[in-house]
Amino acid sequence: MNLKEICKDAERIGISGHIRPDGDCVGSCLGLSLYLKKLFPKKEVKVFLEEAADIFSCIKGFDEIGILGQETPAEAPFDVYFALDGNKGRLGAAEKLFEDAKITVNIDHHVSNGPGCGDHNYVDPDASSTCELVYELVEEDMLDADIATALYIGIAHDTGVFRYSCTAPKTLQAAAKLISTGIDFPRLIEETFYEKTYVQNQIMGRALLESMLIMDGRCVVSYIDKKTMDFYQVTSKDMEGIVSQIKLTKGTDCAVFMYEIRTLEYKVSLRSSEKVDVAKVAQMFGGGGHARAAGCTMNGTFHDVINNLTVHIEEQLEGESA
Ligand code: AMP
Ligand code: MN
Ligand code: MN
Repeated sequence: MNLKEICKDAERIGISGHIRPDGDCVGSCLGLSLYLKKLFPKKEVKVFLEEAADIFSCIKGFDEIGILGQETPAEAPFDVYFALDGNKGRLGAAEKLFEDAKITVNIDHHVSNGPGCGDHNYVDPDASSTCELVYELVEEDMLDADIATALYIGIAHDTGVFRYSCTAPKTLQAAAKLISTGIDFPRLIEETFYEKTYVQNQIMGRALLESMLIMDGRCVVSYIDKKTMDFYQVTSKDMEGIVSQIKLTKGTDCAVFMYEIRTLEYKVSLRSSEKVDVAKVAQMFGGGGHARAAGCTMNGTFHDVINNLTVHIEEQLEGESA
């Protein structure tokens, strides 16, 4: 994919990522927009996202993001529109901007995405992150510390700081090139990945305290309801990292964490080590993701949701031991 070629005749370029934006989503959108602005200083390049956690304010351009729901984008359609880190169905209110654009581009690494939803697609399920794919599209001489900060954060977040199995030699080679721009990477990791606010730690504590082992200890599950979230005054932006912490429970192959986004509607996160393909499980409920990390939204009580999920998790665990 040649971004210069695709964008050369465009006057207005729009970029969006998935709802409830995470580090890879924010990093790839801002990294791409910084690159395109550098490449084409005269063009209008605008990022639209749902409100992201302010830990990402260390990335240049964060303050200029158009917040979906608060800012109504200009009426005229964009010449080129990018959907990053997901399919157009996960763009939320930006889906219409994508659909109305003259040329659409999809850059993603979700196996559940299929071939991609754009006129031009760069979808590689083997990539650690969308930021790794954007890195591949940026010429070496165009890299600078601002672009590197954005892309490094996304790669570090989606690989759990280079721990998950999606980390490949080329991921580390990309990270090496990015840190050679002189970015303060230990601080970026500390402040955007590990550091938690007091209430984030409290809600994480509650989730750990309420967690339960099921399936002879091979699966760990936990949930936080809306009432508890309101009590601690936390929102979905504060729930990042909880499922990975629960997943660290020794002996488990699979972890499920869910929090209530509306009455009896849960945002479900699934993680596994090696035996369960959680993307397959999430896809049965209209979600998706990767084999080791996936998500979906489900309705019902905590017990309904767990019962519906465990049938499919158990099927895979039993299939493996048969
Ligand atoms: P999460 O549990 O929200 O951190 O998501 C884990 C992975 O699955 C991330 O790569 C998400 O982008 C992806 N994911 C989460 N929910 C969905 C969904 N509804 N459809 C497709 N992918 C999803
Ligand atoms: Mn993401
Ligand atoms: Mn991603």
